[in-house]
Amino acid sequence: MNIVDETIPAPCAACGEKSPLESGFCERCQSALPLIKADVRCPACGAENDGIFDICSKCLKEEERVWSNAVALMRMEGLGKNLIHRFKYGNDTFLAKPLGRLAAAALKTLDFDVELIVPIPLHWSRTLLRGYNQTVLFCEVMAKETGIPLRSILKRTRATPKQASLDREGRKKNLLGAFAARRSHEGWMNRKILLVDDVLTTGSTLAEAAETLKHAGIAEINILTLLRA
Ligand SMILES: [Zn+2]
Ligand SMILES: [Zn+2]
Repeated sequence: MNIVDETIPAPCAACGEKSPLESGFCERCQSALPLIKADVRCPACGAENDGIFDICSKCLKEEERVWSNAVALMRMEGLGKNLIHRFKYGNDTFLAKPLGRLAAAALKTLDFDVELIVPIPLHWSRTLLRGYNQTVLFCEVMAKETGIPLRSILKRTRATPKQASLDREGRKKNLLGAFAARRSHEGWMNRKILLVDDVLTTGSTLAEAAETLKHAGIAEINILTLLRA
């Protein structure tokens, strides 16, 4: 699948308008994106900080975090939510390009200092069903734009039931042991990585994945997601 064809000028990725901005979105769609501003971001989860403390009220209630820094690009609402839904379930794989660019631009403004991009894997059975892993697709664009390498050093060991219907404890249990580090992670021990997923809801998927990589010897894990619920 060639998602980064440079020859044909693509229309606005969100609405199809003929002359989009460099971002891949037209002016109207670009301004409708529910972007999270960098100066109000909670460094623990990437959401907009709703309080007066360093981290947001949700994160204050959390136990110890596995990752160092987190960034989320958009709030889970409006056009942001709509785009991710299309990207994930609607076969609109061309969205990988503008979303990957958005993520790359955000990453460049941060001082995350990461050496590797690692997408959260889907179980092979789910990838087969969907035909693609949306996170890998936009990570490929992000890697190209930033020059940071991308490696799938993490794998799913089993297919886990859908998280959506579960509460926090249920989610944790559901994911226990769901990931394993691939042999290829050995080249990245004691390095700093960026773990990437499309959506951060309770953070249990990212926490379990990060925990697995920490145990495998990765020194520092940072988080990037497209949406923060
Ligand atoms: Zn548009
Ligand atoms: Zn937070």
